[in-house]
Amino acid sequence: MFSEILDRFDWNQTTDEINAKTATDVENALSKEILSVDDFMALISPAAEPYIEVMAHKSRQITLSRFGKTISMYIPMYVSNACTNACVYCGFNHANPITRVTLSLDQVRAECEAIRKLGPFENLLIVSGEFPALNGVDYLEKVLLTARPYFNNLTIEVMPMKQRDYERLINVGLNGVVCFQETYNRQNYNKYHPRGMKSIFDWRVNGFDRMGAAGLHKIGMGVLIGLEDWRTDVTMMARHLQYLRKNYWRTRYSINFPRLCPAEGGYIPSEIMTDRQLAQLTFAFRIFDHDVDISYSTREKPTFRANMMKLGVTSMSAGSKTEPGGYVSTPDALEQFEVSDHRSPTEVAREITSLGYEPVWKDWDKAFD
Ligand code: SF4
Repeated sequence: MFSEILDRFDWNQTTDEINAKTATDVENALSKEILSVDDFMALISPAAEPYIEVMAHKSRQITLSRFGKTISMYIPMYVSNACTNACVYCGFNHANPITRVTLSLDQVRAECEAIRKLGPFENLLIVSGEFPALNGVDYLEKVLLTARPYFNNLTIEVMPMKQRDYERLINVGLNGVVCFQETYNRQNYNKYHPRGMKSIFDWRVNGFDRMGAAGLHKIGMGVLIGLEDWRTDVTMMARHLQYLRKNYWRTRYSINFPRLCPAEGGYIPSEIMTDRQLAQLTFAFRIFDHDVDISYSTREKPTFRANMMKLGVTSMSAGSKTEPGGYVSTPDALEQFEVSDHRSPTEVAREITSLGYEPVWKDWDKAFD
């Protein structure tokens, strides 16, 4: 289990090692074809900041050779904001007195039909809070069966589950799981996740082993930028990704770096990552792992997404609503996070095409299941 590997690395020592990297370490990392985590640490370090143009060029070349000029398109569908957890940065926090909505299957069907009218999406990300009695495995199984006739590729971003539950959902068409560890800082993890199943660090971090053992086609990972030192957190994630690739090599992987905004859930991020730092991190990950899918959501602004599309990003959401029932109506439910790119999927696709890239709506077929 990855928790045992993680415990071999001291958080503060890792932070110190990153900050001690030099220009020579960066140049050494940039001269290699296959990078170690130590090299990755050099590329995300402050010492690499003057090398961002070189990194952008290298990241672009690798991305072009592995993915071509394509951007995979996906759209989230929020099915429930009911949650027993109390993540301090989230508007769906159990303690928040908001209207709780869990979509009926008829409502799920209506959302699917509304999404299909927005664009030829085939990659659907089903998102839910964590409230096992309301939106647990039984409910998700029915949601997957309801959504399956509309979309070829079904991914969920929900509570971590047992291996046998993942297997059960794979049997009804589940293709991928996205799960954010949020932070790998074990010592401070409960400051942000004080109650519910999400407060159990090992259950969450070892969920990726359970996903891999269940044979999922794709696993998505991420840390929430704005909780702990981002450089240390992404280094731990790089170690995690390397571990998963070694142990579950049939699975494909994607990564995402959601940045906390100051207003979300009333939580003030400990640090604000600049666009330049996010670009540096994106280039570093591409140079470290040539095949990982790097995803930018509609949290990011249109101009930044357009620039990064040519330099390392390989998938994007578009037209996103982040509240349950958001595609059919304007519901009386809080958005989980604020969207920065409000353009329609057609507008986003048009821009991708104008930049010489191809929006890919379908990269998986139900027949492969
Ligand atoms: S981040 Fe997820 S688990 Fe945490 S409160 Fe929000 S919906 Fe619940």
